Amino acid sequence: MTTNTPILIIGAGFAGLGMAIQLKRTGREDFVLIERANDVGGTWRDNHYPGIACDVPSHLYSYSYLPNPDWTRVFSPGGEIQSYIRTCAEDEGILPHIHFDTDMLESRWDAEANEWVVETSNGTYRAKILITGTGHLADGHMPKIDGLDSFKGEVFHSADWDHSVDLNGKRIGVIGSGASAIQIIPEMQKCASEMVVFQRSAPYMVPRWDREYTAGERRMCRRDPSVIEDMRSEIFWAGEFNFAQRRNIPRFLEEAKTLAVSHRETHIKDPELLKKLTPDYEIGCKRLLISNTYYPAIAAENTTLEASALARVDGTKAIGASGEAYELDVLIFATGFEAVRPPFAARIFGAEGISLDAHWDKGMQAYDSIAVHGYPNLFIINGPNTGLGHNSVVYIIEAQVDYILGALDHIEAQNVSVIEVKPEAEEAYMDKIDVMSQGTVWLAGGCKSWYVDERSGRLTLIWPDFAHSFRDENGRFHPAGYTTQSLTAAE
Ligand SMILES: Cc1cc2nc3c(=O)[nH]c(=O)nc-3n(C[C@H](O)[C@H](O)[C@H](O)COP(=O)(O)OP(=O)(O)OC[C@H]3O[C@@H](n4cnc5c(N)ncnc54)[C@H](O)[C@@H]3O)c2cc1C
Repeated sequence: MTTNTPILIIGAGFAGLGMAIQLKRTGREDFVLIERANDVGGTWRDNHYPGIACDVPSHLYSYSYLPNPDWTRVFSPGGEIQSYIRTCAEDEGILPHIHFDTDMLESRWDAEANEWVVETSNGTYRAKILITGTGHLADGHMPKIDGLDSFKGEVFHSADWDHSVDLNGKRIGVIGSGASAIQIIPEMQKCASEMVVFQRSAPYMVPRWDREYTAGERRMCRRDPSVIEDMRSEIFWAGEFNFAQRRNIPRFLEEAKTLAVSHRETHIKDPELLKKLTPDYEIGCKRLLISNTYYPAIAAENTTLEASALARVDGTKAIGASGEAYELDVLIFATGFEAVRPPFAARIFGAEGISLDAHWDKGMQAYDSIAVHGYPNLFIINGPNTGLGHNSVVYIIEAQVDYILGALDHIEAQNVSVIEVKPEAEEAYMDKIDVMSQGTVWLAGGCKSWYVDERSGRLTLIWPDFAHSFRDENGRFHPAGYTTQSLTAAE
């Protein structure tokens, strides 16, 4: 069976749903959203590990046009964010547009029909415009570990938590020390008989200014929408202030480092442990983490910090790169995501029949961080150079949705059948990104991070500027960057 639709969106996370909501709000009812899972939520549906919460305050990490007066905390737990997303989809009437359990397997540009042919696990779709909202962090990364198959205990990834495994009194190994790991580790420390943390590199960490909102504060937010607007503005500009540090400006680096050092030294008294927990790169080069519970969990009696990567597994033994071996019952991989080479790209084939993944053999790139030459009528939300190390991704998503709405207005007004970014426009944009990236802490900070594509050494994931400048530059469609073909009478 083939479903024909003018607009097909892939993915029901913040991006895909945000797009769908705005299509509907601008009077475009004729679209379909496909989602491989059986619920909305994306990140917040898939990640339900103990301790999960956002690390951008919820009043900002939510749609600007759907404020939620009922956030219970500054940094909401994941389940609350998932409920919020579901409520947005329901209230905005998006659910009838969603085809769940529909995995996009292959999308090919049909140059005869001027449309995308999308093969899914649930039939074929033909669409004039294809919009991906498949996420930066949607597919968990499992490192290849020698002998992992021989492990006698339980193994799972943080993004696919196995709640059927009883962790109480177990010897638990957590692999990783990134954003998910530092939320999981304090929870595991509470229930494990012993916990071993395999840390490839020490993260920088600063306090988490979290607290519950009082009933009075929530009431105020309900009564007066300007209260939420003011809070959003305050959180946003505090985040923007932090960008100065990512630009490698010494005064701001020193301020951030002083805070991180004092946080570490407040909780860690053992000099050996302190040494292991001291990063060997510049602050901000990898994601700056926020936690009040991580260091106490690492310093606890039942925790061992193995300051090397998990190298191999042999039966019940997990062996670090240092050669140290540990008998364990459970291995939890908090090893991040396939971010630099997102799996959806291997499934999209453009005008030349080449997959986007092959086209991006030197790393992801897109004009205005949204469109790729050779891939007509395709818009990518939350793709190349859209990630932020210092502010809310939802803000970026909203800017990109506005861009696409502008493109759709243009397409409709000009009767356009094919719209494709000019190669020179894309190259000029990428040159600009490269110039902006130079000197940032992500490139100059002396770390190895998933923000940089190893194949080219380019910063492909992060938007290397203030978040508000992304909106200024990319929150509005730029027709001059595109070539278009108009519908002929025959079409
Ligand atoms: C644990 C965790 C915490 C985070 N905390 C924050 C935070 O505090 N602040 C912040 O700004 N960002 C945070 N992020 C980043 C977060 O991913 C983004 O903020 C945001 O949720 C991304 O939304 P998205 O819709 O682009 O992608 P996702 O939420 O990943 O949604 C993508 C959707 O596409 C679907 N999909 C993918 N491939 C296919 C396919 N082939 N066919 C059909 N459907 C497909 C997926 O199933 C998924 O539902 C966090 C990420 C993680 C993992």
